[in-house]
Amino acid sequence: MTHCPADDTTDDAALRRALLAWYRAHARSLPWRDDPTPYRVWLSEIMLQQTQVDTVRPYFERWLERFPTLQALAEAPTDDLLAAWSGLGYYRRAHNMQKCAQAVVQQHGGQLPADHAALLALPGIGRYTAGAIASIAFGLPHPVVDGNVARVFARLFALEGEPSTPAMQRTLWAIAERLLDRDAPGDFNQALMELGSQVCRPRNPACADCPLQLHCAAFASGRQSELPTPKRRAARHREIAAALLVRLEPAAASAPPRYLVARRSADLLEGLWSLPTVTLARAEGRERTPELDRELAATVSLGSTMRQRIAELAAQVLGERAPEADALRPLRPVEHGFTHLEYTLVPWLCSIRVADDVPTLEVALDPAVFSAWRLVTRQELTELGVPRMIARVFAQL
Ligand code: SF4
Repeated sequence: MTHCPADDTTDDAALRRALLAWYRAHARSLPWRDDPTPYRVWLSEIMLQQTQVDTVRPYFERWLERFPTLQALAEAPTDDLLAAWSGLGYYRRAHNMQKCAQAVVQQHGGQLPADHAALLALPGIGRYTAGAIASIAFGLPHPVVDGNVARVFARLFALEGEPSTPAMQRTLWAIAERLLDRDAPGDFNQALMELGSQVCRPRNPACADCPLQLHCAAFASGRQSELPTPKRRAARHREIAAALLVRLEPAAASAPPRYLVARRSADLLEGLWSLPTVTLARAEGRERTPELDRELAATVSLGSTMRQRIAELAAQVLGERAPEADALRPLRPVEHGFTHLEYTLVPWLCSIRVADDVPTLEVALDPAVFSAWRLVTRQELTELGVPRMIARVFAQL
């Protein structure tokens, strides 16, 4: 008979006690932990997906100032929402939060329900988030399994297999259910997550400081660095693109320059204000290496060909107002890693002198990519949702 850790109960009470005692002595003070209302717990869980605690803190506070209730969030204009999220990345999370807030207003009078099944039925709330809100905000006995918890369990019970596989997920959730402290589910779940992030770290776990060392199969066999079984890395794409940064410069020195920004209509950056771009080179599913970069750079031939391509883009977008290719000026490239894409953007500044203080322009953009465009000052730009990469382009001016 194979050993199934989900059935093993001998050690559970001691493990629970050790973990909770450690957590109560060592838990970090975090804004969502110190005042765990349902809205705050939910917001923190969504923001912390894919983003570090230190990055999230200021966003969390600012978000709650701007949208203090779910009602306020449900009614917020998309621009306000994306401006408040600007820089956190994975913008789909912000759109989904608003959909969820709208459902909560319609179905639950603006309050997240104190019921696991009702939480799960809301848009954008999966098993993990429902478990976190139910246990931490409402004290209900529901477990959680996130990346941190999965790593702790894989090591404690020496589980073989990638944590994301269906079979491993079943095992992990069964263990979480079995171990859960029914009297203090919120503290217990947070203790597991805290242990995973602070002690049982992905690399170099601090086993000497770990309250569960005595219970840990990986520690006993010296296999901490092998577990959990690493995920096979998905092939990433590599892309180099050029962006057109149009700056209108009024003759009057007192009038601020204005910049052309366009709103993305689809893809990962939906709703955000970005710049017209042209793809220069792309490699599908290849590891980024210096050789690949050289190969791509050669196809772009980074001097004259790129200037020509961006001049063509300027002609498409601006028609007769497009300047000569010689007048375009490259800025420093910015790089960004998306989940499946390593992206380098080379911005080109296209300055145009205009007579009016508040200039107008005829602009033609691909409607499949952009739903709207605006001419904005730097000040106005701060009130729009802008991808971090584009903010880094503007920071060079
Ligand atoms: Fe993780 Fe080490 Fe603790 Fe085991 S003893 S749970 S590997 S930190």
